[in-house]
Amino acid sequence: MAAIEIETRKSVDVIDITTLVQQQLKESGRESGICLVYTVHTTTGLTVNEADSALIQDILGLLEKLAPAGAGYRHDRSDGNAHAHLRATLLGNSVVIPFENGKMLLGTWQRILFFELDGPRRRTVQCKAIPDR
Ligand code: ZN
Repeated sequence: MAAIEIETRKSVDVIDITTLVQQQLKESGRESGICLVYTVHTTTGLTVNEADSALIQDILGLLEKLAPAGAGYRHDRSDGNAHAHLRATLLGNSVVIPFENGKMLLGTWQRILFFELDGPRRRTVQCKAIPDR
């Protein structure tokens, strides 16, 4: 599977990459296994959840509450984006999704959400389909 390239548009941006991952999976020709989706950056995150705009605002609100910008972080002395690294740590940098018959086994409301936390930038997400037979 190839990498997915994402051009984010704002300092904080959430992008539903489910269709792009499914496309990569289809092109891999793999039938059954697990699909690893991995962001190679330290100020982005990945999660699986509902792509409802109100919920996404709630998730961003939670991240802001837990890791507010400019709260006296040590990393801000060298690079003013400690809050983005901390929010990325809370989200995690990968998700793993099982697939069968070449299709991801996502629940009805589940989508793969990519979180830009220090954009806008060009970002890369790596996908690997690992067959189970
Ligand atoms: Zn930094």
